[in-house]
Amino acid sequence: MQEIILVKYGEMALKGLNKRTFEDILVKNIKRRIKSLGKTEITRAQSTICITPADKFYDTEEAVDRLKKVFGIAALCRAAVCEKDFEDIKRVSLEYLEDALSCASTFKVTAKRADKSFPMKSPEICRELGGVLLSRFHNLSVDVNNPEVTVTVEIRDTKAYVHGENIKGAGGLPVGTSGHAMLLLSGGIDSPVAGYMLAKRGVHISAIHYVSPPYTSERARLKVEQLCEKLTPYCGSIAFFCVPFTEIQEAIKNNCPEEFFTIIMRRLMMEIAQRISDREKCMALITGESVGQVASQTMNAIACTDAVCRMPVFRPLIGMDKTEIVEIARKIDTFDTSVLPYEDCCTVFTPRHPKVRPLLADVEAAQNSFDFSELVEKAVNETELKIFNLDL
Ligand code: ATP
Ligand code: MG
Repeated sequence: MQEIILVKYGEMALKGLNKRTFEDILVKNIKRRIKSLGKTEITRAQSTICITPADKFYDTEEAVDRLKKVFGIAALCRAAVCEKDFEDIKRVSLEYLEDALSCASTFKVTAKRADKSFPMKSPEICRELGGVLLSRFHNLSVDVNNPEVTVTVEIRDTKAYVHGENIKGAGGLPVGTSGHAMLLLSGGIDSPVAGYMLAKRGVHISAIHYVSPPYTSERARLKVEQLCEKLTPYCGSIAFFCVPFTEIQEAIKNNCPEEFFTIIMRRLMMEIAQRISDREKCMALITGESVGQVASQTMNAIACTDAVCRMPVFRPLIGMDKTEIVEIARKIDTFDTSVLPYEDCCTVFTPRHPKVRPLLADVEAAQNSFDFSELVEKAVNETELKIFNLDL
């Protein structure tokens, strides 16, 4: 008996997008993600991608685990291959679903007949196969509304498939179908979640992080690199840019009024992120800001930050509560890393009384008391790049 993986991407996701490009990118992402597990043949038909392992020792379970994090997949399942012949469908179902059905008390059969030339219609397949399973497994009764096991028979072009469990996929759009953006990634809880959310919408993510040694430690940087690693199963490869920010922060401290430290720092972060984005052909910035969370995230402060932005800034968490953000951080397994207690450059030289409602004119005047252009240039030039890629 041969086992394969069926991947469903659902027509809804295709609306307004070029279907062919969407599929090509999804197949490419799937291939990269499971390449290291061994040879497979990948075919596609009727909004389903079929992954057939080349040998029977293939680790299907691990492949499914990996594919659960690939965006653009609505659902997936492991399935057994049958000939397009009802006798074979019966034989394979009894063998393949034995474990699942002998432990369950209720089930139902559904059938999908993509090949309309198959002699039995769907209701007939359900009825007949249901009868066979009932007479073999005396523990079972039929429940069409809330069955413990749903046995699905799919009659397709050349083969039929039987499966017993539908696994929910990560949803969203395949990474790479929605352009390229730069995530401002701190070591906190929020920004990794923001990156995950845009990757889910098909955006290819690069990340930028600002460090201020010796005020911030090497371990703080390693923590952010670990966050990149945790994001790669969802995002694919991530180009990680690490910007030396110490001199800029010292210049702010020595030259600007204390109440504007944070807001000026954030404007300079945006400036540097845009310079590197231009070079990397990123079309937008992403941050983990949420309205009102801290002084630099009031509407006034955000307006002052946005005033230096030439490209769109995506803030997917803007209307979320911390508890909702934490829930996602736990789900994507970044939370435990994010709460490790290492300092971020944002916490260096934090003003005692930050301006909660800064006015743009005041911020600009405060920032103009020093010419940061040379330091910005230097920081961009000294930025280090590291590539994170699970699939190499
Ligand atoms: P987070 O949990 O993402 O750190 P936060 O609630 O701590 O967010 P801030 O520290 O004010 O909020 O940062 C707001 C946003 O600015 C972050 O979500 C992130 O996008 C960006 N940011 C902050 N510090 C850094 C940094 N050192 N490097 C890169 N981006 C940063
Ligand atoms: Mg932070």
